[in-house]
Amino acid sequence: MDILISGASVAGPALALCLQRYGHDVTVIEKAPALRGGGYAVDFRGSVHLQTLERMGLRAAIEARATHMGEIAIVDGAGERLAGLPSAVFSGDLEVLRGDLAEVLYAATSRRVRYRFGDQITAISQDEHGVDVTFAGGPPQRFDLVVGCDGVHSAVRRLVFGDDPAHKKPLGVYGGIFTMPGTLGLHRSGVMYNEPGRAVTVMSPHGGNQIVSMSVYEPGLEFDYRDVAQQRRIVAERFAGVGWRVPELLEAMERAEDFWFDSTTQIHLDRWSQGRVVLLGDAGFAGGPGGNGTGLAVVGAHVLAGELDRARGDHRVAFRRYEELMRPYVATCQKQSGGSPDFLVPTTWKKIGQRNRFFRMMRYLPVAPRLIKHFATKTATAFELPAYDLPALV
Ligand SMILES: Cc1cc2nc3c(=O)[nH]c(=O)nc-3n(C[C@H](O)[C@H](O)[C@H](O)COP(=O)(O)OP(=O)(O)OC[C@H]3O[C@@H](n4cnc5c(N)ncnc54)[C@H](O)[C@@H]3O)c2cc1C
Repeated sequence: MDILISGASVAGPALALCLQRYGHDVTVIEKAPALRGGGYAVDFRGSVHLQTLERMGLRAAIEARATHMGEIAIVDGAGERLAGLPSAVFSGDLEVLRGDLAEVLYAATSRRVRYRFGDQITAISQDEHGVDVTFAGGPPQRFDLVVGCDGVHSAVRRLVFGDDPAHKKPLGVYGGIFTMPGTLGLHRSGVMYNEPGRAVTVMSPHGGNQIVSMSVYEPGLEFDYRDVAQQRRIVAERFAGVGWRVPELLEAMERAEDFWFDSTTQIHLDRWSQGRVVLLGDAGFAGGPGGNGTGLAVVGAHVLAGELDRARGDHRVAFRRYEELMRPYVATCQKQSGGSPDFLVPTTWKKIGQRNRFFRMMRYLPVAPRLIKHFATKTATAFELPAYDLPALV
């Protein structure tokens, strides 16, 4: 089949890899002018994620870029360590910078998949036999299937499923992420500082540069996701007067070229497909922090391509099976993520203190490592991966 994928971050290239191996002709269209770098770390955890990467032939390449992060120290305003977040909580079993992951996926697919950067879909109409797509640049084209892998603000979702605000469930946390030269002497380690409703995390997986994440809990905060200057202003205003090393981090933010800001939002839809158009990854079922978004995107790619193969190209059967299989898994992950604001951005000094005491106490419990591992992988492993026959890379 001739398949168009919108979005070249994680879900899009992962799906392209599987589809291409089953013999489909795949085009990936990406709005950004080139592969997007940047982003914080994303992780894979537990047997389902790792087995999927293994089957896709990606595990070694991702491991070669792994962050190998140690614990994240929680500090007070003077930089004194109060507690530590074990790496299993924050970094899972295999953690990689999002930009590095996008590069690995692109390198694994770019010879056999057609990538079109700097373009986007403007209209989609379909009939029983195909999908007609028009683009911002370039002539219209007809495809057998279209897959929306274009993230939380998906254009495919808007064009085909409508712009219903009920599809989006913001969790109230908004965050800016950027890279800057290392100033905290971190190497494979991180630091977290909180004030009520504010969280700053700095990590440096490879030494040298450090990656800064600044999050604020403010339900209802409005911003334009296309207006980066406004987003920088929001972070600067919300963190003005916050202690620790925040003033110097804010200065660096103004100069950062890879600044990325978004609301942590879950996506909930009654259906993930309409006719020959289907959604995958954050576009269809974003989970938010701790919701295994990257793992879900990759597992979902494997399942969607596998079901298309099993259904011998009958997209109706394949899309139904994909949804039947993935929905309970997605629901479990989204439920877990719903509680993440309390943990990441506690809203009072009292709640900050309670969280820190919990992690301090864990240190002295002999069963803590096993308990932490169990809870860190519980939702990520709540899925039985079907044994698809994914052809080897040739
Ligand atoms: C720059 C960036 C930084 C990120 N940083 C983090 C992070 O630090 N931590 C974290 O947990 N998650 C981060 N994410 C989200 C994370 O990648 C996803 O939650 C997860 O990996 C699922 O990926 P996805 O491919 O479904 O969606 P996304 O990673 O959001 O990718 C969507 C892709 O679609 C492209 N796109 C958007 N609109 C269109 C359009 N109209 N036409 C064509 N292409 C379009 C985007 O440019 C992007 O490349 C980041 C995403 C991006 C794009």
